Amino acid sequence: MRKDLMKAYETDASQLNGRALDVVHPKTVMEVRSIVAKTQRIVPRGAGTGLAGGCIPLNGLDVVLDLSKLNGIGSFDKERRTIEVGAGVILDDLQICLARNGLEFPINILNHNVCTVGGMIATDVGGSRMVKYGKISNWIKWIDVVDGYGNLHRKGVTELSDYVGMEGITGVIVRVCLKLLPLKKRTASLMKVENSEKVVSIVRDLKRNLNVSMIEFLDKKISVGMGLIEDYHLIVEYEDNSGLLKGREYEELMEMRNRIYSFVVGGSHVRIEDLKIMTDRFVKLITWLESVGIPIFGHIGVGILHPCFNRNQEKYIPEMMKFVKKLGGQISGEYGIGILKINLVDMNDKKILINVKKRTDPLNKFNVGKVI
Ligand SMILES: Cc1cc2nc3c(=O)[nH]c(=O)nc-3n(C[C@H](O)[C@H](O)[C@H](O)COP(=O)(O)OP(=O)(O)OC[C@H]3O[C@@H](n4cnc5c(N)ncnc54)[C@H](O)[C@@H]3O)c2cc1C
Repeated sequence: MRKDLMKAYETDASQLNGRALDVVHPKTVMEVRSIVAKTQRIVPRGAGTGLAGGCIPLNGLDVVLDLSKLNGIGSFDKERRTIEVGAGVILDDLQICLARNGLEFPINILNHNVCTVGGMIATDVGGSRMVKYGKISNWIKWIDVVDGYGNLHRKGVTELSDYVGMEGITGVIVRVCLKLLPLKKRTASLMKVENSEKVVSIVRDLKRNLNVSMIEFLDKKISVGMGLIEDYHLIVEYEDNSGLLKGREYEELMEMRNRIYSFVVGGSHVRIEDLKIMTDRFVKLITWLESVGIPIFGHIGVGILHPCFNRNQEKYIPEMMKFVKKLGGQISGEYGIGILKINLVDMNDKKILINVKKRTDPLNKFNVGKVI
């Protein structure tokens, strides 16, 4: 590929930059197999919306394997509620096809209009309905992966953990079989909450309600950015009629939620973190973040929150990570490690990851220099 055209493939939503040796766009699984077999270093790439630099090629040594053309939506089993799709299928395209058949895929993330199924599986995304449906790993029947020799393997439930959430360091996911649900009719409420203690107690109550499928938090700054009054807000989605907003009003609330990311990035917040904490530590966390002026939003129902840092605030990130650890939390709840957090991986986790990598990718071809 021409050097000027390669630029777009040398970055992702993390806004970090790298350098590619080449970029290739296979259209079939056979083409993926033959490219992988004869290439030394491969970086699998879906839509490039990852926030940890996982699909960025390094030092001009990597060939970027753009999987977006593996976008076939294949055989569909309405009775068993499963569907086979290519790794490059975009989430929204899948949902549109399923909705026509009265079905849906329960995982939903903010960038559903661009992210690919392969990228979502490689990062084991959770997203806004995690409080009810967990991570994407719960919704996979099997995956087809290409190893470093170019061989194709089908991996069932017992072997998924070698690939799901491994950020492409163990092989290339080319095709998957997903589990589905009947299409749901949803309603929602937008709740204004005066203080962080109340946020915690409302979230605790909501989590007991099995019909609640989403609990999203917006702090005061983000609320104002969304045109709301300067208070905390919770967006609560229900899979019954309990929500006050229905039909078009429900859609409008979800559209507002979709705009949060553009608002944050448009406001020069270049780094969006993805920490995870227990609900009862939330008050301490938000008190600290507000003391240094850092906005925050996220999936409070599962404790995954996104503090947003502009260039001047990036200096607070190490301090925040220390604080989160002190609160018993995790520094990465959903975006992954990529190149951004490689120095922060716990030694024990690293040992396990190295073993998996050696076993699945003995030629050390995939995403070298990432995660471990
Ligand atoms: C606006 C926005 C909102 C987001 N919201 C969420 C959210 O709610 N929850 C969440 O968990 N994440 C979220 N993310 C981050 C999320 O990780 C990605 O959006 C998505 O999962 C990646 O899909 P992608 O196709 O862009 O993958 P890419 O960015 O292209 O790749 C991501 C990683 O997966 C690997 N990879 C990609 N395809 C394959 C494949 N076929 N086989 C093997 N490895 C592969 C890459 O090498 C890389 O390491 C968000 C990002 C943005 C920009």
